[in-house]
Amino acid sequence: MPLGEFELIDRYFKPLAAPDGQLRDDVRVGIGDDGAVLRAPPDTELVVVLDTLVSGNHFLPDAAPRSIAHRALAVNLSDLAAMGAQPAWALLGLSLPEADDRFLTELAAGWRELAVRHEVSLVGGDTTRGPLCLTVQLTGFVPPGNALRRAGARPGDLLFVSGTVGDSAAGLAVLKSRLQAPETLARELVRRHEFPTPRVALGLALRGIASACIDVSDGLAADAARMASASGCGLTIDLDALPLSAALAGAASVDEAREYALRGGEDYELLFAVPDHRTAALTAAVAGLGDITCIGRLNATPGLRLRAPTRIWSADPGGWDHFR
Ligand code: ADP
Ligand code: MG
Repeated sequence: MPLGEFELIDRYFKPLAAPDGQLRDDVRVGIGDDGAVLRAPPDTELVVVLDTLVSGNHFLPDAAPRSIAHRALAVNLSDLAAMGAQPAWALLGLSLPEADDRFLTELAAGWRELAVRHEVSLVGGDTTRGPLCLTVQLTGFVPPGNALRRAGARPGDLLFVSGTVGDSAAGLAVLKSRLQAPETLARELVRRHEFPTPRVALGLALRGIASACIDVSDGLAADAARMASASGCGLTIDLDALPLSAALAGAASVDEAREYALRGGEDYELLFAVPDHRTAALTAAVAGLGDITCIGRLNATPGLRLRAPTRIWSADPGGWDHFR
């Protein structure tokens, strides 16, 4: 007998209220009532984010359910990270073609892994039958006035990015047979696409240090240009400085790798600006949180410029747009 809607919620989603077996004590009423009742810590601002993933659009129709759930949660965690917020509560709007046990078990497992790591409690949602689509809403906390913003960078600030960029887009190209690479490199790029790491701890560490921050979802060039523009600045990116993984460098030519890095998107790394006088504080704050790389500077002249050792030129930021 196929599962009913409520059995399905009880079996797969209610356990995600306390993914590590311990319910957060700020969840007064969770899944099972008409609404969740949540207690925000005193003297805290709430940061709320939401992202929708549609099958065939944000993930391949045959994507593994573990990866789908991971990405649905990761992209929202990444938005909270970019705001410098500590994740707390999630809502999940799920449209599902059928109640398949294997699919739902894997979906819940993919969610649980990341939810445990970031102490995220699933406090409610909605489940309907329909084309596969996940909408996740997350709430996080920041001390009053301390949220990171896209606006706030000033001309002269250094531009940094975390981790490596371009891997996710190259991984997608591998999945679509548009990029051929030796097996181990291909597998690493695909893993980076299917299981991106949201930089939550880094976002928290950047509070009070970064003058502006954004996460890399639509492409490094586009997102950097967005942050610069929100800050009333332009920017220059040094092509030689772009941090490329060994997998990407081994799978593509230098020019191709830079193209993936600049235009690819879905890396979910943090891109942020730091004034010169805070670089020592930055080094101390990010110790042990993974690599960061300085890739350029904000300028007073609007627009994006790319720099190679012998020349500098204006470039179109490009980037992903669902309606173009
Ligand atoms: P109502 O009809 O009152 O809106 P629902 O029947 O939609 O309630 O949901 C029952 C309970 O299950 C609610 O607490 C709701 O938040 C929760 N819920 C429904 N779907 C999900 C889901 N996909 N993930 C988490 N909680 C869910
Ligand atoms: Mg409902």
